[in-house]
Amino acid sequence: MRRRRVVVLGATGSIGQSARKVARDIPERMEIVGMSAHSNREKLEAAGREFPGARLCLSGDGREEELVELATMPEADMVLVAIVGTGGLRPALAAIEAGKDLAVASKEILVMAGEAVMEAARRKGVQVLPVDSEHNAIFQCLQGQDPASVSRLILTASGGPFRQLPAAALGGVTVEQALKHPTWNMGPKITIDSATLFNKGLEMIEARWLFSVEMAKVEVVVHPQSVIHSMVEFIDRSMLAQLSVSDMCFPIQYAVTWPERVPNSLRPLDLAALGRLEFEEPRYADFPALDLARWAGSEGGTLPAVLNAANEVAVARFLEGRCAFPQIWEVVEKVMREHAPVAHPTLDAILWADRWARERAAQ
Ligand code: NDP
Ligand code: MG
Repeated sequence: MRRRRVVVLGATGSIGQSARKVARDIPERMEIVGMSAHSNREKLEAAGREFPGARLCLSGDGREEELVELATMPEADMVLVAIVGTGGLRPALAAIEAGKDLAVASKEILVMAGEAVMEAARRKGVQVLPVDSEHNAIFQCLQGQDPASVSRLILTASGGPFRQLPAAALGGVTVEQALKHPTWNMGPKITIDSATLFNKGLEMIEARWLFSVEMAKVEVVVHPQSVIHSMVEFIDRSMLAQLSVSDMCFPIQYAVTWPERVPNSLRPLDLAALGRLEFEEPRYADFPALDLARWAGSEGGTLPAVLNAANEVAVARFLEGRCAFPQIWEVVEKVMREHAPVAHPTLDAILWADRWARERAAQ
């Protein structure tokens, strides 16, 4: 049994908090040796008191170099990237170069630079373990399977708080309504992404890179209970699914203990109490995020980075009360249409596209 020595980037966030809970739950398998926050010094120091030996890093005020140092510290063998947005990209690439396995919650970095991250990991012979619950579910379903036997990856989506809201009412939704997620308790950015379905769109692109499948094989089904975390269909038309209570501790633990499983104190799933599992087709026309993501993921190159960056800017504006909910989709689509994608981009080309899209979206 291997004890993983883990650096948690974004230790004060929602995922960071779950990661600390897992480390307390299975201390014989997970030791936190480093933690970062961006600006929340008090919360970071409190987290530091939970794990007294851990090195701490406050990465705000342009101290990005320190984040790279933390991610490459010799005492660690795994880095959990749980930073919101794209700030985790450089430290993640540095961790790979330093030979660390990566556990990735920050889907934005795989959307933006999935090809580069996966290529670097292959070259260095390190693992990229998915923490996003859907991808962790797919990863579990794929264990022991021949990749050539996969016919479809089916991501489940809760549908968000506006799953049943008439299209005409979407223009009037408030920030407060959008921040009320029906099944998961998460940070504000991903919660808005769940309401627009950009979260599922980002996850379609994330799946494409993580599991190296073409975009056409990645599908979405709405499943309001969020109990099936995702499914894989094989060429014989058999499907495998992974189920658990909706708690990010499950995928975090699996990423840390993989390829093994260990007991924990998490709540078991009571299927009879649950009663039913439902499925429905996503409302593609009313929530254009899924089609925009399929376009970006099929085109590839710098287009996914542009989608991601424009979405980040639009979400920030919406949270500030400076744009209406449907404008998030409009801004992303407009910026994507203006972009001339570069195929197989270098990291510099990706970062350039990211900056360009942020400027255009802000305008
Ligand atoms: P939170 O907003 O709760 O936490 C974000 C963390 O990142 C905090 O520790 C924050 O520090 C730090 N941070 C913020 N901005 C920066 C920056 N520019 N540079 C470095 N660190 C920064 O986010 P979540 O935990 O919800 O999400 C984290 C990532 O995980 C996202 O990419 C999200 O998509 C993904 N994810 C989250 C899920 C969830 O259940 N929450 C589920 C699946 C994926 P500080 O506290 O100082 O601001
Ligand atoms: Mg997810």
